[in-house]
Amino acid sequence: MINCGPGCEQTLREVERWLDGECDAAVHVEVETHLTSCNPCMQRVEFRRRLKVVIQTKCAGDAIPDELQDKLKGLIRSIEAAGD
Ligand SMILES: [Zn+2]
Repeated sequence: MINCGPGCEQTLREVERWLDGECDAAVHVEVETHLTSCNPCMQRVEFRRRLKVVIQTKCAGDAIPDELQDKLKGLIRSIEAAGD
């Protein structure tokens, strides 16, 4: 498991809400600060952010087929597993 310093676990836990702009201001700053100094976390977040954009772009007005959702979730899981 990659352990790039204190805060990685918390950062990755908060990152979904951070991407959605739903976390507290204090958490927001913590996540941002952590990402600027932590490459592995930054790469994971970048990947998720792009994925989110793709999903939002492709699926504007359309629901994502369950099958595709499952595939994307599986992809994210396998990447995270590989990272650990
Ligand atoms: Zn980190």
